[in-house]
Amino acid sequence: MKTQTTLTYDIRTFGCQANLADSQTIAGVLEALGYEQLPTQTGKNEDEILYHTLSNTDLFILNTCSVRQKSEDKVYGTGKIVKKVLQEKRRKPFIIMAGCMVGSVTGERQRYALEELQKKTPWVDAYINPTQIMQVPNILIEHGVLNEWALSKFNPQNIEAVRDNKTHAFVNISYGCDNFCTFCVVPYARGKEISRTKEEILKEIRHLAEKGYKEVTLCGQNVNSWGLDTKTKFEIRTGSDQKLPFADLLRKVHEIEGIEKIDFISSNPFDFTNDLIEAIQLPKISNYIHIAVQSGNNEVLKRMNRRHTIEEFLDLVEKIRAVKPNVELGTDIIVGFPGETKKQFEDTVNLFRKVPFNVAYISIYSPRKGTSAERFFKDDVPAKEKKRRHAELTKVWKEQSKPDNNIRYKNITVDICE
Ligand code: SF4
Repeated sequence: MKTQTTLTYDIRTFGCQANLADSQTIAGVLEALGYEQLPTQTGKNEDEILYHTLSNTDLFILNTCSVRQKSEDKVYGTGKIVKKVLQEKRRKPFIIMAGCMVGSVTGERQRYALEELQKKTPWVDAYINPTQIMQVPNILIEHGVLNEWALSKFNPQNIEAVRDNKTHAFVNISYGCDNFCTFCVVPYARGKEISRTKEEILKEIRHLAEKGYKEVTLCGQNVNSWGLDTKTKFEIRTGSDQKLPFADLLRKVHEIEGIEKIDFISSNPFDFTNDLIEAIQLPKISNYIHIAVQSGNNEVLKRMNRRHTIEEFLDLVEKIRAVKPNVELGTDIIVGFPGETKKQFEDTVNLFRKVPFNVAYISIYSPRKGTSAERFFKDDVPAKEKKRRHAELTKVWKEQSKPDNNIRYKNITVDICE
C-alpha cells in the first residue's frame, strides 16, 4: 500500500449530466481521502489514453451508462485494455464500476442479476450504484486499499464536487425516476425518484456563487416533478394551473446573488404546467429549454407510456414561445420504436416541420433488457428501415433548423445506436 499523498485516481464517465455530476462528487470524496487526480493525457487515441491511465493510476472509477447498448459495449471493451496492462505491467489499479450498469443489477428495481454483470466484468474489484457514492471510503477500506486512518479525516458533510469548469456547475436536484417510460432503463438503474431538499440545493448554489460560479444547470431525470409526492406527481398535467415546487425552486435560485444564468435538464411535456411557464420568464432563466417529446404520434406515445399527447406538446410550445419569443428548443426522439408504422413515423417528421428544434437527440430504438418495451413488444422495425427513418428525420431537422429559417442553429447532435 502506498502512502496517502501519492495515491492517484482517474474517472471515466459515460452518459448524461447526472452521471457527470456524480463523477464530480466521487472525485470530491476521493480528494477528501487524500487522492490526487492523475494528470490528464492528451494527443493520443482513446485506447492509448485508457492504457496509460490504467498503467499509472492507483484507483480507476468507471461511471457507466445503460441507456444505450453502445455505451455498455464500450464499458465491456475496457476489459481488453485491463488485460493488456496486466500482462505488460504485471499490475492494475483497483477498479470500481459505478453508475447505471450497476444500478440495473442492484437495488429493488433490478433488471437482471449482478452475477451476470460480474461474469462479463471479472476485472472489476467493486461495484457501487448511484445511491452508494458515499460508501466509496468504506469499500476501499474493506478491500484493504486504504486504511482506517484515511477515514478518520473524512467528513461526508464537507464534500466538494471537483469541477473542471470554474464558472458553470451542474447541480443534481433529484435522483432516480418513477415514470417508467417503456423503453427506458433509468427507473431501474437509478431507482426511485428522490428529491434533494430545497435547503441543501440552495446552500450548494450559494456556495458556488461565493466561489465565483455564474451559471448553474439544475439536473434531474425529470426536474418538473422535483419536490412532489408520488400521488401528486401523477396527477399533474401539462398546461394546467397546478403549482409546481420546481417553479418555486427556480424563483429561489433566481434570487441568489452572483448567479447570472440558470438552465435545467430534463423537462418532460406531461407535467410542464403554467406555473413553470411563468417561472421561465425570469431574466436569469436560460433561453434554451429542453423538452423530451420522443415521438410525434399519439399511439406511439401511449405505447411508450408517455403521459402527453402531441396536441398538448404543441400547445406547450406555443405557450412557451408566447412568453419567450426567442426561445431555443431542444428535444429527444426515438425512431423505430416497436410497432411504429411508416405513417406514425411521418407524424414525427411532420412534428419537426412544425417545430424547428435547435437541438435534437435522435436515437434509433434498441431494446434494453428488462424494460417493458423489451418484455412486451416485438422489436419489429427492421434495422435498415430504422436507419432510413433516422436519416430522413435528421435531414428534415437540418433543413428546418437552418439560420435562414430565422432559427438560431445551435448544433447537430445525433445519436445512432444499433
Ligand atoms: S421520464 Fe421516462 S425517459 Fe425520462 S428518465 Fe424517467 S422513465 Fe426515462
